[in-house]
Amino acid sequence: MGYLKNKQIEYQERGYSSIDSIICTSCVGDHAIKSFIRNIGTKNKCDYCSKIRKCCKLEDLIGHIVESIRFEFEDATGCMHWEGKEGGFIGARTYDNYNMVFDKLSPEMGIEDEAVLTDIYKTLNDSIEWCDKDPYALRIHEEDYIEWKQFCKSAKSPTSSFEDIALKSQILYKITEHFQELGLIKNINKDTGFYRSVIHDKAENVDSAKRIGSAPVKYAAANRMSRKGVSMFYGAEDIETTLKEIGAKPSDTVTSAKFYPSERIKVLDLTQLDSIEFPSLFDPTKRHLRSPLIFMRNFATDVSKKCNGKPIQYLPTQIFTEHIRNFYKEFKLSGIIYNSSLVKGKKCCVLFFNNEHCIECNSNLKNALYMDKASLKNIN
Ligand SMILES: [Zn+2]
Repeated sequence: MGYLKNKQIEYQERGYSSIDSIICTSCVGDHAIKSFIRNIGTKNKCDYCSKIRKCCKLEDLIGHIVESIRFEFEDATGCMHWEGKEGGFIGARTYDNYNMVFDKLSPEMGIEDEAVLTDIYKTLNDSIEWCDKDPYALRIHEEDYIEWKQFCKSAKSPTSSFEDIALKSQILYKITEHFQELGLIKNINKDTGFYRSVIHDKAENVDSAKRIGSAPVKYAAANRMSRKGVSMFYGAEDIETTLKEIGAKPSDTVTSAKFYPSERIKVLDLTQLDSIEFPSLFDPTKRHLRSPLIFMRNFATDVSKKCNGKPIQYLPTQIFTEHIRNFYKEFKLSGIIYNSSLVKGKKCCVLFFNNEHCIECNSNLKNALYMDKASLKNIN
């Protein structure tokens, strides 16, 4: 077999042909592609912007791009139904190389230069028509979300015990796995406090940790993360948010105070999901987190949602809390931080400290929340 024939077979198999140009780090926006060029490149004059920068062969970069595309897309030939007589591939979306490069990849790669995009497009194997990986199935994050919604529905009309559902629902294990992958377990240091407010009669003098802290068991109503009769500390990062969260009216008499953990604690911080940068498709170490991140952002929005005062609406999040407390038993998870549904951008918390754990001063007690007496504030 001749050299040219061999080359043709090689190009066919790898999905792209050959090109001589070199490209620099400044011609791409995506940080993972920049790193790729930086790692294999040498200082040279870029063929596209003429700057002297770290450059690599565009052909090598296209190899990396094709490998990355294959993480979320595949060749429609062989996995999709084909209908002749102008029917084409049927039943799911497909993308030709032009759509793939100019519409789908260009924003992800952060490449705007038409000359670069055209060279990538022309080098790709033009016989390939792309489709989403596993084109007739839902995306993984869509499947996960449907599973979570089904869980929520069944949690509201339970056929087995609360503890049983918490232990046996597979979606809850999937969610805890995502916490770990996405690094959502955080330390809260002793100097980070949370406010709590209580509405009371004007005549009552409210100034003790036991009165302002977690509600005693006999008064603990069903709440977002806890069942009726389970005492937990619900607080927020500022007084204004606590007032909104407890539904205080301007005419109400309210006392607020700030509580601090007596030692460093570990919490599940769902608010971190907002600040995690969406992983690049071109980053082989992080791109597997793209799907979990989309799902977990939807999940965190659901967890924060206001439930119009109907206790049954809180059953899914109560079971979820039971699950993670049990799952992280040895790990000693002490609470959950989530976004307030009433004050945009503010954090709320539920800490697994009951009324007994709320104390007046920072003694050497462990596993406690102490009230900062100086923070006591009476409104009205
Ligand atoms: Zn350049």
